[in-house]
Amino acid sequence: MESFGVEGEYEKLKAIFLPFITPSHLVPVVDIARIFAMHGVDVTIITTPGNAAVFQSSIDRDASRGRSIQTHLVQLPHVPGLPEGVETINATTSKDIASKLFEALNKTIQTQFQQLLHQYKPDFFVSDMFYTWSVDAAAEFGIPRLIYVGGTYFAHCAMDSLERFEPHKKVESDDESFLIPGLPYNLEMTRSQIPERFKKPDDTFSYLMKIVKESEKRSHGSLFKSFYAFEGAYEELYRTIMGTKSWNVGPISSWVNQDAADKGSRGHGKEVEEGKGKEGWLAWLNSKKKGSVVYVCFGSMNNFSGTQIREIAHGLEDCGHDFMWVVRKIDEDESRAVVEEFEKRVEASEKGYLIWGWAPQLLILEHPAVGGVVTHCGMNTVIETVDAGLPMVTWPLFAEQFFNERLVVDVLKIAVPVGAKEWKTWGEFGNEVVGREKIAKAIGLLMGGGEEYEEVRRRVKALSEEAKKAIQIGGSSYNSLKDVIQEMKLLKLEKLKKPVA
Ligand code: UDP
Repeated sequence: MESFGVEGEYEKLKAIFLPFITPSHLVPVVDIARIFAMHGVDVTIITTPGNAAVFQSSIDRDASRGRSIQTHLVQLPHVPGLPEGVETINATTSKDIASKLFEALNKTIQTQFQQLLHQYKPDFFVSDMFYTWSVDAAAEFGIPRLIYVGGTYFAHCAMDSLERFEPHKKVESDDESFLIPGLPYNLEMTRSQIPERFKKPDDTFSYLMKIVKESEKRSHGSLFKSFYAFEGAYEELYRTIMGTKSWNVGPISSWVNQDAADKGSRGHGKEVEEGKGKEGWLAWLNSKKKGSVVYVCFGSMNNFSGTQIREIAHGLEDCGHDFMWVVRKIDEDESRAVVEEFEKRVEASEKGYLIWGWAPQLLILEHPAVGGVVTHCGMNTVIETVDAGLPMVTWPLFAEQFFNERLVVDVLKIAVPVGAKEWKTWGEFGNEVVGREKIAKAIGLLMGGGEEYEEVRRRVKALSEEAKKAIQIGGSSYNSLKDVIQEMKLLKLEKLKKPVA
């Protein structure tokens, strides 16, 4: 552990972290909080009991390692229509309940946060992008607000270009490609692949994202879990277009989760796989040859139609490679029965292994038997996969995932696209069904070992080396963390030196 000091340091920095309540925002913000605590900052994370249960074991381990880190719990108020115990927005949360949860959360956390600012007197705080009100709290309290926006710099730059130049309005149809101007790379996309909010600027979500962007610009700076070798050119462009500071602290997951207990329980709170016991997935991977297994996971928010689930099952069975598939949620009885039958069959033939619910992804990615990943291009998974040195089959679904796909396929050339064409609203199935042939073909190319794909493997291995260097002493992300902590200390010093009015 290294504490980054400045000359004349007089006491520890205190910070509050406000993570959001979806796994893919909660998990990285907690990891970022832990990295600050690992480097000498006194950290308090504010969340609800249900969300704390997901990460508290890591906080307890960090505290026993001598780090100053704790959780402050806030209770959600009763909101009509919000079922007892629902505190997280993920694949199992309906849209209606998600909006009630958002309302309840904002109601309670905003008031309690104001009280906590007075009680804890932090020197700065880190807020998830969705707590837009916290930018005013920072101004009122006279301390810096750092914002966590998620996503890649690449996606932020591309989305800014769409807002500014609206190239998608200049094409005739949804599947005609257009160029996104102003980027270091000639990025081509189609209207069907860009988020709905660019096509419906007046809907509620578009409005929310406008407010998020305003609060991003009014923040002291942004924290990203990326690293320079991954998308440095876009990091610089982001700073220019946003006119704010930003710091890179990635790959965060391997920096802060250094032992098997941290990695195994990350995002879940438990190390045990539901239904199959702790050793199930591990014993299966241990029985496989080096690099022979493709790991298939679509993150924490996916929700496929029964038809699509069946196509995935067939595609995996037809691809000719061993696979591990994380299945989250199947509402429809008939499709669930088909997948359960499929599971029995592929586990009996030892070709495949299914994990229901939550997989210990960090441990799986570092297992030598895993040779490739099918991903929906969620930013966390993309960085974790690159960090593990594994090439990808990309299958973007929603949010900024289609932009991330272009980064890894076209710019970095470390992935093979499955050929998805349609951006989907979260929680909706959309019209497109990616067929079994496309799925089997993309996996076959990636895992098949042809010369072109050996190059893909070499490139991602080289990037993985860079990821490892970034978080070592003197590395780009290490220096970035050092910079932001020193800046927070200098701001604290300046504030203390100011004469009291
Ligand atoms: N994750 C995991 N096990 C799972 C599903 C997801 O550990 O079964 C973790 C994954 O490692 C990543 C995060 O949850 O850190 C998912 O974030 P991502 O940005 O990839 O996708 P999202 O959930 O936002 O769609």
